[in-house]
Amino acid sequence: EVARTLSLDTAPGATADGIPVALLANVGTQADTRRAVEVTAEGIGLLRTELLFTGRHTAPTVEEQTAAYRQVLEPMAGRRVIVRTLDVGADKPLPFLDRPSEVNPALGVRGVRLDRTHPQLEADQLTALGALVADLPADARSDLWVMAPMVATTAEAARFAYEARAHGIRTVGAMVEVPSAALQASAVLAELDFASVGTNDLAQYTMAADRMAGDLADLLDLWQPAVLELVARTIRAGVELDKPVGICGESAGDPLMALVLVGMGATSLSMSPAAMPAVRHCLRAHPMEICREMAAVVWDADDAATARTRALGLADPEV
Ligand code: PEP
Ligand code: MG
Repeated sequence: EVARTLSLDTAPGATADGIPVALLANVGTQADTRRAVEVTAEGIGLLRTELLFTGRHTAPTVEEQTAAYRQVLEPMAGRRVIVRTLDVGADKPLPFLDRPSEVNPALGVRGVRLDRTHPQLEADQLTALGALVADLPADARSDLWVMAPMVATTAEAARFAYEARAHGIRTVGAMVEVPSAALQASAVLAELDFASVGTNDLAQYTMAADRMAGDLADLLDLWQPAVLELVARTIRAGVELDKPVGICGESAGDPLMALVLVGMGATSLSMSPAAMPAVRHCLRAHPMEICREMAAVVWDADDAATARTRALGLADPEV
């Protein structure tokens, strides 16, 4: 019994009927990556690169960046890794960015939009990541995926894909966390190799509710049907184009929501390492057919509580 439990705790992510779903980790530091290895994550679904940039007075050089990414990723060597380019600006200001303050920083020059004002930042980061790709064995160079945050338009996706590929990155994607990108998911994804849905910001922007505002927690509920509809729409675009669409926002770490996302067709779930054992266990207990049924009943619920209750009603009560 102990042996069985242990093997289930380390088994790759899959539904009860054996359909694989990659369980990936969200990390920012090497300590996070070690934790991800401990819970046998199959890779990294989101490396947040902001930490290297915040609290400094000059931008890190290309060499410093290459060394830092290599160090954070080192415990995951040989597995798939998705690196997100810099997601700062406005509300997470960098001392070395001479930017005027903005009235609505969440709606300002942030994420991939920084290319408008500081194109060298993205170029240097892509150079550093391209150097990491070039250092990999030839048959592993497609395993380092790079994605841009806050993509809102097909043109932004196309521009980023062009730049990333020009820097030697083989597998290029975008986060879908702005409603316009979810609404245009097919066209956005056509420019890319993959997408990853960031449910934290997608909820914030869909519901027009600041994700830091505790008073608005009910609006920011990830079970809000409008948010689920946009997530489903994005995943559907991936299924139709046969391109991977994963989830890297908090939704992926909620075991019941994870089933819904898998039922929608998500190919990977990326979460904090601490959330992974419960998600793995829940997934192993439910066949794909049940996940699909859950996905079918949530998105047209009248409210978040109803969506969750409907999904829960289909779940195995023993789990
Ligand atoms: C998200 O927005 O869902 C996400 C994963 O990115 P972050 O939380 O870093 O904004
Ligand atoms: Mg985000």
